[in-house]
Amino acid sequence: MSPDQSNTNSTPETMRVAVLGSTGSIGTQTLDTITHLNMLHKQGQHPTHYEVVALAAGSNTTMLSEQSAQHPDALIGVSSASASSEPLDQRRLIHADDAPTRLVEETRPDLVVGAIVGIAGLASTLRSAELGINLALANKESLVAAGHLVTHAATQSGASILPVDSEHAGLWQCMLALMGPHYTPPTLNAPGSIRKVTLTASGGPFRDRSLESIEHATLQEALDHPTWSMGKKVSIDSATLMNKALELIEARWLFGLDSDQLDAVIHPQSAAHAFLETEDGSIVAHLGPTDMRCAIQHALTHPDRASMQPDPMDLARLGSLDFRAIDPDRFPAIGLAKSVIARGGSAGAVFNAANEAAVEAFLRNELNFGSITRIVSETLESFDCESAATLDEVLAVHQAAKDLANTLITKHSASRA
Ligand code: NDP
Repeated sequence: MSPDQSNTNSTPETMRVAVLGSTGSIGTQTLDTITHLNMLHKQGQHPTHYEVVALAAGSNTTMLSEQSAQHPDALIGVSSASASSEPLDQRRLIHADDAPTRLVEETRPDLVVGAIVGIAGLASTLRSAELGINLALANKESLVAAGHLVTHAATQSGASILPVDSEHAGLWQCMLALMGPHYTPPTLNAPGSIRKVTLTASGGPFRDRSLESIEHATLQEALDHPTWSMGKKVSIDSATLMNKALELIEARWLFGLDSDQLDAVIHPQSAAHAFLETEDGSIVAHLGPTDMRCAIQHALTHPDRASMQPDPMDLARLGSLDFRAIDPDRFPAIGLAKSVIARGGSAGAVFNAANEAAVEAFLRNELNFGSITRIVSETLESFDCESAATLDEVLAVHQAAKDLANTLITKHSASRA
């Protein structure tokens, strides 16, 4: 895509924003960033005012009630059937499984922040893309499971998918150098001038641990991420490097890259997030503070920039940047991701579902840490991964893969006992 063909992201004076997954780590940091940007707007330092028109959570009605008091005009949604809706303003409430999607349909915002965790975020991501609503997307699972549907819908409707995941936000900023200042993903086929893209991984809490000690790592050890503070699922994904695997698949869909154009490297400082190598050997890199509010803010303000909340990066203090290859024996997730990209079809949905099942089992203490990637690999081996052409078909594949993974998990836990 040449610069003049790229999508544009207009910045209205008032931007109406729906925050889906508002009670989570990304959701709360989004609301914090909106408060910061509105303060800058009031001081005449930023052109856009942000109005929160919808807030959605799974079951945390206490926090949702607090958030809705701060945004009294926002519609609110709760998805979990078992959650009480007691503290919430019933006149503004949608309490249903599909609450996030209905909030998008009813409010038709300028921007949806997709911060729901897991496959639960897919329907609202896809609906936003179909309706031509720009998406600031943190929910990588929706692209991993149904990247073909989401990017096709966005391309048809003209919606932009503005990456919030820090590596993709970084890669997007590298791409701006190549594609022009108004470029936004998705791109169905990356320009031929791109040779390779490399995403960085901190290596998580087990970066320097032996294969044997990783096998039986405890929940507490797995949640103890060295550089980022995140929700439980993404923290476990970071410890297995499944997070990086999901991100490689996510990058494939956002930027139209092949599996041989995608790589990942361990970078303990987490200061550099992405590298874009062009055919002439130049490498464009993105560096920035390890604070998700930077990536969230970039998605909210693009193509403008605004002063940020976190302290700026101090290069002299940082001293050095280290990089090393990812050991495929200790971290098989990266190889699995490449095979999923090369295989296509519904392999992404199977991969994501098996990982969700395995992480849930590990969180319930029913599976060894080392078996998480084994379950994903065994589930992939048992599926033919034919293409899934609709949301319902993707969700059916997801359920079937999750059921198979759970059967495998039961066998693994029996042999562990
Ligand atoms: P959290 O677990 O902290 O938050 C998840 C959010 O999703 C909560 O608001 C939760 O509501 C909501 N939710 C869960 N199920 C549903 C549902 N069925 N309907 C509506 N809302 C639901 O996750 P994170 O914020 O850490 O991660 C969110 C996404 O962002 C993930 O896809 C993750 O991979 C990605 N990401 C996260 C990063 C981070 O730093 N945290 C970095 C990059 C990407 P409730 O609180 O009620 O359960």
